[in-house]
Amino acid sequence: MFSVKLAPGKDARLLAGHPWIYRSEIARVEGEGEPGAITHVLDNRGKFLGQAMLNLKSQIAGRLVSRHEESIDAAFLERRLREAVSRCGRSLSGPDACRLVFGEGDHLPGLIADRYGALVVLQILTAGMERLREPLLAALRTVVKPQAIFERNDAPPRKLEGLALRKGFAWGGGETGVWIQEGNLRIFVEVAEGQKTGFFLDQRENRQVVNGLARDREILDCFCYSGGFALSAAAGGAASVTGIDLSAEALAWAQRSAEQNGLASRCTFITANAFDELRAFDRAGRRFGLLVLDPPAFTKGKETLAGALRGYKEINLRAMKLLAPGGILVTCSCSYHVDAPTFLEMLRSAAADARREFRLVEFRTQASDHPILLAAKETQYLKCVILEAVG
Ligand code: SAH
Repeated sequence: MFSVKLAPGKDARLLAGHPWIYRSEIARVEGEGEPGAITHVLDNRGKFLGQAMLNLKSQIAGRLVSRHEESIDAAFLERRLREAVSRCGRSLSGPDACRLVFGEGDHLPGLIADRYGALVVLQILTAGMERLREPLLAALRTVVKPQAIFERNDAPPRKLEGLALRKGFAWGGGETGVWIQEGNLRIFVEVAEGQKTGFFLDQRENRQVVNGLARDREILDCFCYSGGFALSAAAGGAASVTGIDLSAEALAWAQRSAEQNGLASRCTFITANAFDELRAFDRAGRRFGLLVLDPPAFTKGKETLAGALRGYKEINLRAMKLLAPGGILVTCSCSYHVDAPTFLEMLRSAAADARREFRLVEFRTQASDHPILLAAKETQYLKCVILEAVG
């Protein structure tokens, strides 16, 4: 039997519902297993706590998959998948595009599965989940019944787990550019060439909020990617929408979706660095009624937090200055290491420097198909703050 025994007292987090075991918390490993193999987890007295995927090369050495003595096989994965797809915020009959599996949040650590209509896009991030790839594909076919499964296993974190990077159809085939339905919009998603799995599903519910706030306003969507917020704002009756991104390819997809929905006449997409463009708009005296900031994560670790906060403050300060009286700022951060209080404090500091007063309209997070474990704060990463300028 392959098992790990935790150091005294190191079972508390696990017992409270958190799924991770840090390498430093393991007192003894009995038996041998390949990286990612399933192991029994015991407390210091030898009591069974659950089963985890073990990779001693990683800081997060164990990821709990089950709290029971059951076999981790195709039938297990099928049960877990059925639970996941019927969870709050999802269903197999709609929405058309949604996250079906959000790793730890669905007790399937290291696995992301997104549905874009009839196509499932898979991302395996850990050695443990990679070992289950075949039964996983079978379970997905049985439970979700997609036309094809595409794997975006080209995410850099795989290298930390000793996994090769791979991209392509894992089952079936066809077009990698698909049209999805989000609210009243048809949106073009490129699953092979797009970022992440092709689209940022985590912002779906926040885009709906922007849709409801946009009427008659001039909108600036910074870091707009394939136009998610920009298109939602245009569909919500915005007077004009400007979207900015560094990726010309993503903007071509945004343009395509704008045309498909009859919104192109009110949308302009500009390939530029958002930092420079915000400065240029200020110099030119431009003002906007609603501004969206949804940058990529400025930090992936604690070490670079200070620099990341300087970056967040710079764009937020500039955005605040660009708001017309009564204007709305929708400002996001997907950096897990910038927690909610730190993000708000940064916004207070930016508002003070911009010499503007704001009301906090709403503090939002990721869409409900990205479930958050109350016991594991790492499963909550997205912050979306809506501010209204007082004057
Ligand atoms: N709001 C989008 C997702 C944004 S993801 C949605 O709802 O779908 C972040 C985007 O920022 C990426 O498309 C990336 O190309 C872009 N980006 C990164 N650095 C940038 C910069 N300095 N200026 C403009 N865009 C940038």
